[in-house]
Amino acid sequence: MKMPDVLQFGPGGNGPHLVISGAVHGNEKCGTTAIDRLIRCIDDGRIAIISGTLTLIPISNPLAFQLNKRFIDRNLNRNMYPKEHPQAYEDYLDNELCAIFRKASHLLDLHSFTAPGEAFVFLGPPRKSEADFARALGVRNFAHGWQDSYKGKEKSGNPLESQGTTEYTRLSGALAVTLECGSHKDPEAVEVAFQAILNALEYLGLATIDPDLFDPRPVSQGPEQVVRMTDVFYKEDEGRFAKPWKNMDFVKKGELLATFNSGKQIQAPEDGFVIMPVEHEKIGEEWFHFGVKSDFFEKLDPKP
Ligand SMILES: [Zn+2]
Repeated sequence: MKMPDVLQFGPGGNGPHLVISGAVHGNEKCGTTAIDRLIRCIDDGRIAIISGTLTLIPISNPLAFQLNKRFIDRNLNRNMYPKEHPQAYEDYLDNELCAIFRKASHLLDLHSFTAPGEAFVFLGPPRKSEADFARALGVRNFAHGWQDSYKGKEKSGNPLESQGTTEYTRLSGALAVTLECGSHKDPEAVEVAFQAILNALEYLGLATIDPDLFDPRPVSQGPEQVVRMTDVFYKEDEGRFAKPWKNMDFVKKGELLATFNSGKQIQAPEDGFVIMPVEHEKIGEEWFHFGVKSDFFEKLDPKP
């Protein structure tokens, strides 16, 4: 069975242990490309890992990556925990990946999304330490409340459905963030991923980095924007979006978001944002998420 390659660098010891994962979804390749670039930079000496441990998983779902599919049997970024009796291909991957994530002090999980739109970071509970790590990556958009937005709506009926890479990694006390680097096909997503990697290495003091590698442009421009996720809408039936939504598009309360062929409509429950819309998604899958403006950064728990 095809299992992920794992590379490790650094002197170890008591320093931070940063794990960077790419292609948890096999069709999201920007993280893999950025990690490959990082490996070349380490090989040619432009980046030296001088403290702690850096673990790289360039392709977390190798078979799905090879077939350019999101997953083989089930979404690897849901229901993530070690499986005593693995059945699906992704169950076997869980057992490999969870063992790595348990040893991390920090996780940077690199993804991309379908619609056009700006990069953003998924935040966990309101911990200052994790928020500081997330803000160091250099993107300006953030979303939180992923698990809450699922409560009672889990398609599988399993309350662990919303537990993915970061949620699992946090169980052992680590700081873990998902970076959605941009649209799958946008070459800029690779740049976002690579600059975020450099920023993470620098923030954690793991590496000396050739300053020429840092892009003189900021990864994203404009003021920080934080969204609390409130809803997930499944594509229950054939239907269409009211507009070709982009990620993080702002909508007013009551605005028509989508219509099913049955005539049933989905309207914006509040003033808020359309998150990760996938108009031509398969029936039964997540069609889009919804969230509202949040004051997350003003209410952080200072405890580590
Ligand atoms: Zn993804």
